[in-house]
Amino acid sequence: MTVQFKLPELPYDVGALEPHISRTTMETHHGKHHAAYIKNMNAIMAERADAPNTLEEVVLLAQKEGNKKLFNNAAQSWNHAFFWESLSPSVQDGPSGDLKAAIEKAFSSLDAFKDEAKTKGVGHFASGWLWLVADKSGAVKLIDTHDADTAITDSSVTPLLVCDVWEHAYYLDYKNERPKFLDAFVSKLVNWRFAEAQYQAARTGSGAWRFPV
Ligand code: ZN
Repeated sequence: MTVQFKLPELPYDVGALEPHISRTTMETHHGKHHAAYIKNMNAIMAERADAPNTLEEVVLLAQKEGNKKLFNNAAQSWNHAFFWESLSPSVQDGPSGDLKAAIEKAFSSLDAFKDEAKTKGVGHFASGWLWLVADKSGAVKLIDTHDADTAITDSSVTPLLVCDVWEHAYYLDYKNERPKFLDAFVSKLVNWRFAEAQYQAARTGSGAWRFPV
């Protein structure tokens, strides 16, 4: 029988990210947009006998087959779940330990990292995602992907954080002012404890976050 993936519950209350992201945005983003991607993916997978058991495998299978409709819905299902984990309801000052050192090595300082993240996120044309990723050597960098494209199709890196830069992520709260949304993300919302755990997984090659089965 085909695995049917469930919409993961938010790791905090739906209103917990206020005032930076409103309850209304989260209700729509999680309860409508994210839910729709999962429903569409499940509908496609239900017709197949060869369905993998994990969402990560579904994403890679869809990419390998060039099945754009499946890829878009599967990758968006994964990216959104990873985005919820990347956000914290309580403001965290910044990374510590090895990740702090890696960010300072790559960007010179945490403030310079924040500036570069904002610039890259604002400069991203149309819909997509802004990622902080690490390779096996521990080097970190910012990348952006378009539409549903996801960092997990690049086996040379592990994602540490992601910011959703689709308009549906911020339009109700910030209208067209994506820079303000990105500023809130880097200054108030980043879950650095999650990023640190992902960083250790990148270094050791195991224990990275996976979509709940
Ligand atoms: Zn989104």
